[in-house]
Amino acid sequence: MSHLPLRAAIAGCEPYGAPELVVPARLNVNENPYSPSEAVARDIAEAVYAAALGANRYPERDFPRLRAALADYLAVESGVRLAPAQVWAANGSNEVMLHILQAFGGPGRVLVSADPTYSMYPEYARDTNTGYRTVARRPDFTVDVDALLDVARAEEAAVVVLASPNNPTGTALPASDVSRIASGLRGAGPHGADCVLVIDEAYAEFRRDGVASALELLDEHRNLAVSRTMSKAFAMAGLRLGYLAAAHDIVDALRIVRLPYHLSAITQAAALAALGHRDALMSQIAELREARDELADWLEEVGFDVVTSDANFILFGHLPNRHEIWAQLVDRGVLIREVGPPGYLRVSVGTARENRMFRHALLEVTDG
Ligand SMILES: *Cc1c(COP(=O)(O)O)cnc(C)c1O
Repeated sequence: MSHLPLRAAIAGCEPYGAPELVVPARLNVNENPYSPSEAVARDIAEAVYAAALGANRYPERDFPRLRAALADYLAVESGVRLAPAQVWAANGSNEVMLHILQAFGGPGRVLVSADPTYSMYPEYARDTNTGYRTVARRPDFTVDVDALLDVARAEEAAVVVLASPNNPTGTALPASDVSRIASGLRGAGPHGADCVLVIDEAYAEFRRDGVASALELLDEHRNLAVSRTMSKAFAMAGLRLGYLAAAHDIVDALRIVRLPYHLSAITQAAALAALGHRDALMSQIAELREARDELADWLEEVGFDVVTSDANFILFGHLPNRHEIWAQLVDRGVLIREVGPPGYLRVSVGTARENRMFRHALLEVTDG
């Protein structure tokens, strides 16, 4: 037993995280593999310099300029025009989700999701003393909407979170499912309140043509929120900037629970500068989507089961000894992720060189 007064919920727990290994092909946490250009880096540095000159003052608490810039970005990316008051941001979409559960979760409250999914959701629940329930996805990883609604209603869930495209499967939710779920959760929450539906669109920019963003449904559903991040397609994982779009009363609830000045002046300045370069930062997205489809085709050709992906990673199987395969890939300088249902591994789409290394090493270790 520890001498520390650990909460029962965290006693014996290890800090979560993927292995941080420096290897030639880092394909394990779904980053954009292309680093920002000199021009982008210089602009960010200049913006940070200006912010540093004013760093004796607290930053803007509700960062209106950054929220307006994020709203502009979403308008260009998804064709959905939102007011800045409908946008919220924090240090990664991880913190945005924490704000959601600090506002709507807590003791006696329940968060519902659909397994397999992002392994951080149960941690957000644990850390906010919120209950966590899941429904199993179907064998093709689609969500059984009726089963999900049954569980959410039975639990009077405060929040349902669904990643779309989902991590680790890469599968996106059809807009019709999002609509049915959001409607079905009206009045289904604690004491007859709405249950809030969060669609986690961390990978939305990688979706295939014709796949809708849940942003398009925001004005029909007052209990819908869509979270996004600059960590993946936007090539700024090191910046730590996640954000959310929703009705302004959902955003106002998050403003109550955020720590004062949670978003530093340095972060705000760097994020604004980065958003000014969105075309350059996102220029490789089309290339990454193509590389994803090529890699998926190749995996299929050499005999693996491949889950169709709308993200920048691919879940593939079936590998009876996935841990050994994973370790042998590491030995060959290729780091992918041991995650998802038994027998599957997840590989992020990297540069052409990284993808070649992965293919070569995988054939070696599977005698393919
Ligand atoms: C990577 C990822 C995020 C992003 O988290 P940040 O804190 O914004 O870096 C969010 N949701 C899912 C499902 C992810 O895979």
